Amino acid sequence: MEILYLIIFFILGTILGTIYTIIGLRLPNNEKIFAKRECKRCNHDLSFIDLIPLVSYIINRGRCKYCRGKIDILFPYMEFFTGLLFTVAYYSFGFSYQLLIALGMISLLMTVVVSDLTYLIIPDEILIITAIYFIIIQFLDLGLKGVFNQILSGVFLFIVMYTVMLIGNKVLKKESLGGGDIKMMFVFGLILDPLLGTLSIFLGSLFALPMSLYLMKRNNEKVIPFGPFLLIAFVFIYFTKITPEGLMKLLGL
Ligand SMILES: [Zn+2]
Repeated sequence: MEILYLIIFFILGTILGTIYTIIGLRLPNNEKIFAKRECKRCNHDLSFIDLIPLVSYIINRGRCKYCRGKIDILFPYMEFFTGLLFTVAYYSFGFSYQLLIALGMISLLMTVVVSDLTYLIIPDEILIITAIYFIIIQFLDLGLKGVFNQILSGVFLFIVMYTVMLIGNKVLKKESLGGGDIKMMFVFGLILDPLLGTLSIFLGSLFALPMSLYLMKRNNEKVIPFGPFLLIAFVFIYFTKITPEGLMKLLGL
């Protein structure tokens, strides 16, 4: 029953979507991950029944059961999109190592979207856990030599991004890239080869362009959270299985 699996992956995604949102909000603040969630307005503790992903939000029509105040829209959005992407991942890859990698990528994306957009931080813990997870999966799938090549690719992409940062700092005369973006390229290399990984930086910049222009137009000095755009590029490249040639064409290179 294919449809049953699609539903299971959607539900799994909504549950993990809640968890990734909590991690993204709490980890950069050194808050306890497993602390109770409460209503931001009335501080009433929320019980299990108030926190069922998507369902509680819909049943309570977006309002707190206790004070009728509006609930932050972030959680239902994150739950829905994580569920959707998990479903697409299963649909695209079936039960395979590629599915495990795709789910890891989505998990990284959703957590970083929250932490980078909220605090402009990509926590090291998240990158380390993801790197270990990818290394294990790649070892199981590709063997020792294969995983070693991916680690080399990661080191290469780290150096590329570090160089981009150095050049960017010189040209812009301010901090151009966050440390998290540079470290994250090592994680990309564990999955992508050096060429596709390098192209992912270009594609991520392209995705970030509208937001950059918007912020520049508003004359805002704010740093742009680049992490989510890099990750969208990473997911796009992996899911579409685009070749380096195809991607260069797309980028007009
Ligand atoms: Zn309340």
